[in-house]
Amino acid sequence: MTIDIIGAGIGGLTTAIALEKKGYNTRIFEQAKAIKPVGAGIILANNAMQVFEKLGLRAEIEEHGNPISSMNITKADLKPLSKVDLSFFEQKYQVKNIAIHRGILQKILINALKNSSLHLHHHLDKLETNQETSLLSFKNGKQIQSPMLIGADGIHSVVRQYLFPKQEIRNAKQICWRGISQFNLPPKYSNELNEAWGKENRFGFVQIAKDKVYWYALKSFKESSEEFQVEDLENYFAQYNPLVQQLILNTVKTQIHIAEMTDLKPNYSWYKDNVCLIGDAAHAMTPNMGQGACQSIVDAYFLANCMYKYKPLEAFSIFQKIRLPNVHKVVKTSWMIGKIAHLSNPILRAIRNQLMKWTPSAVNRKQSEQIFQLPNLL
Ligand SMILES: Cc1cc2nc3c(=O)[nH]c(=O)nc-3n(C[C@H](O)[C@H](O)[C@H](O)COP(=O)(O)OP(=O)(O)OC[C@H]3O[C@@H](n4cnc5c(N)ncnc54)[C@H](O)[C@@H]3O)c2cc1C
Repeated sequence: MTIDIIGAGIGGLTTAIALEKKGYNTRIFEQAKAIKPVGAGIILANNAMQVFEKLGLRAEIEEHGNPISSMNITKADLKPLSKVDLSFFEQKYQVKNIAIHRGILQKILINALKNSSLHLHHHLDKLETNQETSLLSFKNGKQIQSPMLIGADGIHSVVRQYLFPKQEIRNAKQICWRGISQFNLPPKYSNELNEAWGKENRFGFVQIAKDKVYWYALKSFKESSEEFQVEDLENYFAQYNPLVQQLILNTVKTQIHIAEMTDLKPNYSWYKDNVCLIGDAAHAMTPNMGQGACQSIVDAYFLANCMYKYKPLEAFSIFQKIRLPNVHKVVKTSWMIGKIAHLSNPILRAIRNQLMKWTPSAVNRKQSEQIFQLPNLL
């Protein structure tokens, strides 16, 4: 059977690779005319790397990325507030968290496709479904009948809008700048992700390769994110440790990505007839736990296994039943962390910081354990 996928993002590509491994042919339809490398980094956490180990891609990703053995939250001056030591999980699951350039990850995934066909310049415009088949209409005028369809077309998914039109995209009222700095961090930071929290803003950074540090900066806004200018970035983070200024100054300003933070309010239906949603199309989350792509990757592998083990509709139902409660916990926790990170009241911030310092490392580890453990069918 041929399975069709809308969207060649991390979720769609990983789904195609996982389905190929189970013997399926896939066709991927992507709106973009060319796959352009995204100039930012990404952290592939332990759960995603366990999946890539199963798909035979771990070594290649490790070779092109940088291992991260601890994730720290600090004050603006980089004094520590909390730390998750990842060495426990490295030993338990025999994989490491990897920070990597998004463009390189994209390339690795595309090169891993063997029997799938990738159709660029195919923007899905309309979808008509019944129990047997779906009719896909693209903006380029082409129409295709699909026996089995997976919507991996991101937060603004057209597939989702046809299946479940009444879904709410929430705006967290935070602007995010992302860049790659020509820089080498001091050795003590080389295998860590550090995220510094200030007043209604934060700044994260991680070495992704030699001479390349991926950083992201967020700031709350009231009415519109247009009240901020990328040229003033250094000023917004003037109170931070001087390292932050150096990272911004060593970045080409025109290559900085700017986006408002949004997510999809948790919804309880991910499939209908012969169509199933995965990744951001099903459950876009704010990036506060660095889990959006990781959850898409776990979805991809779990769905491929379900499709191999069960009849198609049963597969979708089991996929949703097992994945949805866990993913929704991550969506909700991410949303909450975003609010806590940007507290404006100084007293609440001081209490928050004290609580973070007092939280035993076992508690932080337990939270990560719940996320890193793959569902049983895998
Ligand atoms: C600032 C920021 C930092 C992040 N950091 C991390 C991190 O460190 N770790 C992590 O795990 N996650 C992170 N994420 C989240 C992660 O980027 C997303 O969750 C992930 O990219 C989702 O993958 P996806 O394939 O589901 O969707 P997408 O990446 O959105 O891919 C969807 C694809 O579908 C295509 N498409 C859309 N509409 C159509 C259409 N109508 N027809 C055809 N094609 C279409 C798009 O062009 C795109 O290629 C971050 C997100 C942000 C915003």
